[in-house]
Amino acid sequence: MADQDQLHRFIFETTSVRGEYVHLDSTFQAALSRHDYPPIVANLLGQAMAATVLLGATVKFEGSLILQLQGKGPMTLLVVQLFSNGSLRGLVNWNEADLPETDNLSSLFGSGQLVITIEASINANNKKSGRKKGERYQGIVEFGDGNIAKALEGYFKQSEQLETRLWLSVNDQHAAGLLVQAMPSNQSQMQNGDQEENDKESWNRIAILSDTVTNEEMIGLPFREIIRRLYHEEDVRVFEPEIIRFRCTCSRVRIEELLRSLGEDEVKDILKETSKVDVDCEYCKQHYSFDAIDVEKLFLKEIGPDMSRTRH
Ligand SMILES: [Zn+2]
Repeated sequence: MADQDQLHRFIFETTSVRGEYVHLDSTFQAALSRHDYPPIVANLLGQAMAATVLLGATVKFEGSLILQLQGKGPMTLLVVQLFSNGSLRGLVNWNEADLPETDNLSSLFGSGQLVITIEASINANNKKSGRKKGERYQGIVEFGDGNIAKALEGYFKQSEQLETRLWLSVNDQHAAGLLVQAMPSNQSQMQNGDQEENDKESWNRIAILSDTVTNEEMIGLPFREIIRRLYHEEDVRVFEPEIIRFRCTCSRVRIEELLRSLGEDEVKDILKETSKVDVDCEYCKQHYSFDAIDVEKLFLKEIGPDMSRTRH
């Protein structure tokens, strides 16, 4: 049985190459169970979820990392958000019943973009600057004629100047991914032509070995077995795995904030038409309902101290 919902990191000793492997099980199934996705949409979401975990493991962040694919084809939007505590959620929008049976991004999205956003959490940010909104990093690349793995390889090359290879594999219950990346050579080490030549050679060799991985192996084998099969002549050091889980960050408090930001007039107009205000989280489909009394309370809170007069 393959590892469930775990991220594994590993390095190739005496080289500057690192690797990551992710296997998603109940996390992927939880994301699927809340929506009625056509098979190709489910497949693409699985690829994007695995890819986002791999991407998240290559950068240090406190807050959330968002991988977004956007275009104007049969599919218009795919968003996966990973939080630094290992929670993951995703959503997909498409506007045609008959989607092409391919994972080629330009067939699905037309010409479009891959957008990577890192948002520092409000808590983490408050300590530093006291600003209300978190710090933001955004990288955007056009995706050409390829799948998510190719688009991300392009992103790493263009935005990070890092040689990277990725393999993603999804069936109806599992999503898995493998990544290898050539790290920048250690500056403190004595640099010479030999070292550079050595790094290049290691990278080429490991990339070729990794490329022999099959979809079945990635989905069905335990991590250690994959490593043994692919790299049996390499000196691989593996680290403790990390747990990934599906968890949406929506809450009634957050929805209340959202309604307050719409303004009292707007919310009361909705209330007049429908007698209650219903909000569904677009990520997890959790339903939130506010009746007339809830709405009154929502906007009363802002008055604050005045309420105390009625208490005695
Ligand atoms: Zn939610």
